[in-house]
Amino acid sequence: MSYKKSVYIKAKEILAHRKATAEREAEMRRSAAVVLCPEILEVEKEMASHGIGVVKAIGMGANLDEYMKNLAVANLKAQARRKELLKNAGFPEDYLDIKYTCDICKDTGYNQEFYCQCYRKLIRDVARENLGVNSPLKKCTFDTFRVDRYPDIMDSGMQVNQREHMKSVYQYCKDYAENFTTDSTGLFMYGKTGLGKTHLSLAIANEVINRGYDVYYGSVQSIMDKLEAEHFGRLPREDSIKDDILDCDLLIIDDLGTEFSTQFTNAELYNIINSRILASLPTIISTNLSIEEIGERYTQRVASRIIGSSMAIYFCGKDIRQMD
Ligand SMILES: [Zn+2]
Repeated sequence: MSYKKSVYIKAKEILAHRKATAEREAEMRRSAAVVLCPEILEVEKEMASHGIGVVKAIGMGANLDEYMKNLAVANLKAQARRKELLKNAGFPEDYLDIKYTCDICKDTGYNQEFYCQCYRKLIRDVARENLGVNSPLKKCTFDTFRVDRYPDIMDSGMQVNQREHMKSVYQYCKDYAENFTTDSTGLFMYGKTGLGKTHLSLAIANEVINRGYDVYYGSVQSIMDKLEAEHFGRLPREDSIKDDILDCDLLIIDDLGTEFSTQFTNAELYNIINSRILASLPTIISTNLSIEEIGERYTQRVASRIIGSSMAIYFCGKDIRQMD
């Protein structure tokens, strides 16, 4: 797995918080129970003395097996007695138990020497949240993409059946996500607005994150705004995104062509795309512009870097967002 360090740190913080909360709550329940039923304190004192007894027994060289057997019996008795006391005082039997979020690892994140499932899930959730597109990301999966929304007619531009074509686009993106590695090719998704480019690029992001890769997603304008703020010193150092953009396993730039074009944005765009090509890291770019329009809008050096380094995927059909 190659998530950013900050993702693991955040996930560990959440775990530690869960554990501390569970323990504090159990302690609070205990205090409440002891007030109504002070005998619990006696039973607990007895249970604690068992532990001290073991240490003494080892020191005295006593028959340890025999001793441990007796101790286990005494412990069970004490536990049963405590349950009984709770019950009589009107509390649930498990009232004093620590209620961890995860019973397997008791909120430590480790199951023996391995990461517990709950911790792995937490890491994925934090990584997804870091994308900053949590809610659309959740909705935009391969399962929620509907190929039958595309018309079963010929596309005049490409001379293909639109639905059939989009079926193969969908399958291509799904395979891409399922087999993603940092050696994967970049994708250049183009076609008119509302044809599912953002949906499929987020579906790829979802799957790729789940497989343990570090993904950065942003619209070209939001990326440029942040880079500009960073460049002019308006962004706190800890919010620096330049390294994330250049080094992440998969960068997704949405809506290319909608940015406010300046010398700064053009230079940054070239720098991002070129740096990632040199580092052999894949980038997915989506745009409402046609290939010709990319050529007109950007300098030849930018346009050829964008298109030449990627697999071009044409999106056709009618605006699916208006078909709900
Ligand atoms: Zn766990």
